[in-house]
Parts: sequence; structure tokens; C-alpha cells
Amino acid sequence: MSNKNNITLDSYREIAPKGTIDLAYCLAEHLKGKSILHVNSTKLGGGVAEMLLRLIPMFNDLGLKSRWEVIAGTPLFYQTTKSFHNALQGQAQAISKEMYDEYIKVNQQNIEKIPLEADLAVIHDPQPAGFILKKPKLAKWLWRCHIDISRPQRKVWNFLKSYVSKYDGAIFSLPSFAQKLDIPQFLIYPSIDPLSDKNRELSSEEINSVLNKYGIPQDKPIILQVSRFDRFKDPIGVIEAYKLAKKYNDCYLILAGGSATDDPEGLQVLNEVRQAADTDKDIFLLDLPPDANIEINALQRIATIILQKSTKEGFGLTVAEAMWKGKPVIGGAVGGIVVQIIYGQTGFTVNSVEGCANRIRFLLNNTEVVTELGKRAKEYARRNFLITRHLCDYLALIDYLLSK
Ligand code: UDP
Repeated sequence: MSNKNNITLDSYREIAPKGTIDLAYCLAEHLKGKSILHVNSTKLGGGVAEMLLRLIPMFNDLGLKSRWEVIAGTPLFYQTTKSFHNALQGQAQAISKEMYDEYIKVNQQNIEKIPLEADLAVIHDPQPAGFILKKPKLAKWLWRCHIDISRPQRKVWNFLKSYVSKYDGAIFSLPSFAQKLDIPQFLIYPSIDPLSDKNRELSSEEINSVLNKYGIPQDKPIILQVSRFDRFKDPIGVIEAYKLAKKYNDCYLILAGGSATDDPEGLQVLNEVRQAADTDKDIFLLDLPPDANIEINALQRIATIILQKSTKEGFGLTVAEAMWKGKPVIGGAVGGIVVQIIYGQTGFTVNSVEGCANRIRFLLNNTEVVTELGKRAKEYARRNFLITRHLCDYLALIDYLLSK
């Protein structure tokens, strides 16, 4: 029962809240040998891939037979699903008939190629939702929605709903994302892995090597946002808030991100961010490769304050990662961020550039508050956002569905 780093489920006993690992073994006891299939749209980049990478070996460690398949698309398919993504998160999008047809075609092609046999399948997000048309009769299938779908563009949601309503259940990250559906709906918070390279403790040599690599000085407080270059993450708003705060409090800003392989808009947004940063030498724009886990970990550890100024967010993994590193987070008051950040206790939620700048300044002027909020953030993340809790939630749900 180990992965390439010799991490076993028991390695988490010292980290997870007491009793969590025993609960996982207990829940898995009569699920041994059951086959579980996960399908999503990218192996690398973004929160879904991040979680699956760690959950799949854990299920296998517990004696379930778990496998992960990835849908293969065309540029038009990814453009379509990106538009779906934006429309489902409430943005106006023009989606042509050709695009809907491409979605249907790519889903059909993939379900002919990908083996779908499993006792239970979890289909993640809209991209492969159409797989349901080939669901084996006796299997149970869940649609796992990772995005903020509380105010979807109706036409797109109605299209997707025609697939989603055929599932045995849907899982959302927050109660407010639940929809009018005739199938059961479940709530599961996402999670982070405290032993992954993204989140494990780092030595000072490891941290310094990252700082040297990107030429980041530490003679001033550092404000950090880690995010794909996506408009919903509001990188331009981050730069504006930093500029306002910097009039009074000297600091650096690091915007670290990359783009997921299923996100064609990333490069365009990065260029806009470059323009907004202009010639400010205290802004570091880091275009990271998808496997920059230690780099992100190190940046989160050296940051004074971490921002996640999203204007739409499902559940911000970056928020949980920052909290786990004992940092106060200033986040946009949207989606999962309002559940993740306990206002004034573990960080602050904000509704504007000015509000964000104000909170940056407050924290930079009160270093003891930074430390206190950071400590509480870490304990809150331990109880609520670790992968061991996520694993138990899945096991309980799988058990419930397979024993029906
Ligand atoms: N991430 C990354 N490289 C990047 C940007 C983000 O590895 O350039 C990671 C980040 O640390 C987090 C995940 O990708 O683990 C992003 O998840 P989140 O829920 O915050 O946002 P999403 O990208 O899924 O919208």
C-alpha cells in the first residue's frame, strides 16, 4: 500500500484529525474489489486533475479498483467546453450549433474508445458529461460538478441537464450550486493533499532554490496569488489592489500561474496581465509549467499574505493550500471562498479592488494579526480541507449508492 514516495494512508495519521484514517479503513472494508472509474478532461492543470492524482492511489490502497480516463478533444471541442464553463458560471456566451454538435461528436467518439466498465463511475464536469449515454445497465454513475453553477446561462444548462438528469446522482461543492434536478444531489468539499509536493513541508534549501530560480528578493512583504491566467481569477484586479496598497505599504506582488491544457484563453489573459503590470519591477509574473508543485509550495510559504481575488470560484484549492501553510487569505466573496475563509478569523473576503487593497494594508500594518489568522487558517484547513476527509466522503457515498 504505497505510492512512489512511499506514502501510505497511515502516513496521514499524524496530520489528519484523530480517527479519520480508521474511519477510511472502516468504510472501505466491504467495498474491497469494487471498481471505480473517474473521467475528466485533463491529466494536468487545474484543481480536478490535482485531486484525482492523489485520490486514485488512495482508493486503490484501500482495496478498491480505481482507474482514471481522460477525454480527448479537438480545439473546437475545448473552445466549446470553455464557453460552456463560462456560461455555466454566468457569463454571456454565444455558442453556435456547430459547437454543440462538436461537443456531441467528441463525446460519442470518446465513449466508443474508452472502456467504461466499472461498478461505479464519477464523471467530472461538463466536458465528458455526455458519456452517460453509454452507461452500463447495472453500474451507478455520478456527475461531479466542480464549478460554480449557481446562476447558469439557461440554454447551456438545459443542454447539459439533458445528460445530467440521466445520472444516478450529482455531486456539488457547495449547497448553493445545487440545481432543480430529479436525481439525488450530494455535497462534497474538495480537498488538498498535505503530503504532496504542493503542500508538504519544505527545507530551507528547497525554498531558497525556488527563490533563486525566479530571482525573488525577500526584503519586503510579499503578496501572492497563484492561479491559472483566467479572467474569473481577476489577475488584473489583483494588480490594481496591489497598486493601491503600495502607495502606502511597500511590498512585492507575485502572480504565479500557468494555463490548463483544456483552457485556450490562458495566453490571451497572460498578455493582458503583462500589460497591466507594465514596467513595475516589484511585480513578478511567473508563467509556470503544470508540474511546478514545489515552486508553488515555496511561494506560498514565503508569502506574507495570499490573495484569491476570484470573481467566480467553485471551491478554491489555492485557498485551502494557502491556509494549510498558515497564511491569511484575502479572497473574493464568491462561491466556495465564502465557506473556506472565516471572515476576520482565518482571513478576509472582499467585494472590490478597494476592499482588497484595504485588507492588504490592514494586514501589512498588523503583523501579529497575520500570524494569528494564519494559525487559525491552518487548523481550519486541517479539519475541513484535507484529502483524508474527502476520501471518507467519497467512500460513504459509494457505499450508499452500491448498497441501494
Ligand atoms: N495550479 C498550478 N499551477 C498553476 C496554477 C494553479 O499547479 O499555474 C494549481 C493550484 O496550486 C491548485 C490548482 O492548480 O492546486 C487550482 O485549483 P483551484 O481550485 O484553485 O482553481 P481551478 O484552476 O481549478 O479553477
